[in-house]
Amino acid sequence: MSKVVVLRLGHRPGRDKRLSTHAGLVARAFGADGIIFADFKVKKIQDSLEGVNERWGGSFFVRGGESWREVVDDWHSDGGVVAHLTMYGLPVDEKVSELRDEDILVVIGAEKVSGEVYDASDFNIAIGNQPHSEISALAIFLDRLFEGEELRREYRDAERRIVPSVSGKKVRELDG
Ligand code: SAM
Repeated sequence: MSKVVVLRLGHRPGRDKRLSTHAGLVARAFGADGIIFADFKVKKIQDSLEGVNERWGGSFFVRGGESWREVVDDWHSDGGVVAHLTMYGLPVDEKVSELRDEDILVVIGAEKVSGEVYDASDFNIAIGNQPHSEISALAIFLDRLFEGEELRREYRDAERRIVPSVSGKKVRELDG
């Protein structure tokens, strides 16, 4: 089973906490194994995602405070590929089949991303060529990568699980 990890660039402390937490939630819910926040320590985001794992299961990880260049170099040394999401890249539907079966580091930005990131990436991939958001780009990329299967995944060791219902909220408490 190949690994998929998200690398989030440009987290601005204070300003970006909610967006960065959402990047983590989306990465987890759409099937990635973990997220790394370049350069900034992200203890509160780590705590909040660990709480989500405890309640809803799985072993999604959060790391922070690492240099993007080192994360990318280590990923390459371990034989993985780096896919940077940018509106300037090639269409996701043309490239995504080349990525399946690889270990993928998915790079997303916050504001302007340095040209060095484009050069260091094996793939620069666009989710359409209009500007939108790293969160939407990430969700659509992962969904295309996993072909929708990620939405049917069951998370191990969950304390609770939702019972899909026509109306209201039905949640089953699990044994452990
Ligand atoms: N001009 C920027 C760019 O290079 O894509 C837009 C910055 S946008 C606020 C923040 C991040 O969202 C980008 O770094 C990129 O990862 C992602 N993003 C936005 N639009 C995208 C698109 N159409 N395709 C892929 N990624 C996109």
